[in-house]
Amino acid sequence: MIQTEGSNSDVHWARVRGVLRSEFGDAAFRSWLKPIALKDVANGKVVLSVGTNFMRDWIRSHYLDRIQDIWTHEDPSVRSVDVIVLQNPPSIPAESPARPSTNSRGGTMPAEGPTTAEQPVHDGHPTPLDPRLTFENFITGKPNEFAYAAARRVAESPTVPFNPLFLHGGVGLGKTHLMHAIAWHIRKRQPERRVLYLSAEKFMYELIRAIRFKDMMHFKDRFRSVDVLMIDDVQFFAGKDTTQEEFFHTFNALVDQNHQVVVSADKSPSDIEGLEERLRSRMGWGLVADIHPTTYELRVSILQAKAESIGTKIERGVLEFLARRITSNVRELEGALNRVVYHAALVGRDISIETVKEVLSDVLRANDRKVTIEDIQKAVARHFNVRISDMHSARRARAVARPRQVAMFLSKQLTTRSLPEIGRRFGGRDHTTVMHAVKTVERLCAEDVGFAEDVEVIKRSLEG
Ligand code: ADP
Ligand code: MG
Repeated sequence: MIQTEGSNSDVHWARVRGVLRSEFGDAAFRSWLKPIALKDVANGKVVLSVGTNFMRDWIRSHYLDRIQDIWTHEDPSVRSVDVIVLQNPPSIPAESPARPSTNSRGGTMPAEGPTTAEQPVHDGHPTPLDPRLTFENFITGKPNEFAYAAARRVAESPTVPFNPLFLHGGVGLGKTHLMHAIAWHIRKRQPERRVLYLSAEKFMYELIRAIRFKDMMHFKDRFRSVDVLMIDDVQFFAGKDTTQEEFFHTFNALVDQNHQVVVSADKSPSDIEGLEERLRSRMGWGLVADIHPTTYELRVSILQAKAESIGTKIERGVLEFLARRITSNVRELEGALNRVVYHAALVGRDISIETVKEVLSDVLRANDRKVTIEDIQKAVARHFNVRISDMHSARRARAVARPRQVAMFLSKQLTTRSLPEIGRRFGGRDHTTVMHAVKTVERLCAEDVGFAEDVEVIKRSLEG
């Protein structure tokens, strides 16, 4: 194995983790070992960090000796290993985000007391707020600056600036991040305000329990006595009438008392189907702020910030490559970066664009731009210098029929459309005609190198 200069301790740490995983098994590794971050290595002393006292004590009593043995074996200059608590542990490179999803969890969050990201959740116990989801760690750019500013206003203002704050945007674009950030901020600056953050799913779950155990008084009391209520992913309420009804009353009770409500959804209030009209319109009364899909610039900034927080140096060219190719959302971008860093540390090689292509071939394929039949028709017409209308026309002259066949062939290869669908898009032709075209082009490609090159060139221009 080749080692890179400067990142030796990362490499050792990756190897130690590999050994731990094989020794203790996947389950233990995920629960206890994966959340550990490497804080520092100096003068033969390794310092690891975790998010809570509980985690620290557990690791000290169960794993630390073994970690030290393995480490000393990897690097004889290391004489001691300790683990400390950091409120805000650096992100851990991992194959998938190490943090548990907060979407399906929820619970009360008292203004004081231990609330940690890694605590197991039981009903009525604090919601784990992820220590990484703060305003400081939220990178802003054109697509999210409005939502960010609105969230900050709600978090910083001692009064209620608008009610409710409705955050919406596609999956993985930072809605939950902003909600946690609001909760953290209020908790720190105005600890007397009681904040309750939970997912819409959890709200429903608690309601059903309250109904089943005839405990509605307690339920109402609990949700109506908070100063700030935050419900994540309210599109989940669609079609769930009882839950909507109760949420509507909770919502009104809070707004009437001038208590802050923050909700998030994957669509704007008017676009969520299956919501009662009165709830839909009520939710749009305050400030509706949307988060748009990321831009290239924002993706580069986010990658830079994440790479820095992981503590790995990655060439700008590599970050730019990732930002250009992974366009779906921030969650996927983060996951991709983590995979690359983890892989590089594990095999002890520098991170190059080649490495990235290798490690992320599946993600990169999935993020490839979707080619449409229109794109194909246009590209083929341009290449063979025929009109786009010839793609649909009944003309059978070879000069137009051949390009048309190429376009049908590429439609089959590059899109997921069926033969009949493709036929319809070429002037309503039959699927057997498309099949014939595909076979013909395949045969010609095999027989005629020049023709095969033509097809290849068009294909490249479409995939570029
Ligand atoms: P959503 O709730 O909209 O589906 P999340 O808030 O869970 O998305 O975000 C997905 C991941 O992307 C999280 O790890 C989050 O920290 C990260 N993320 C999203 N937007 C940003 C941003 N602007 N800056 C930094 N990290 C971000
Ligand atoms: Mg979310």
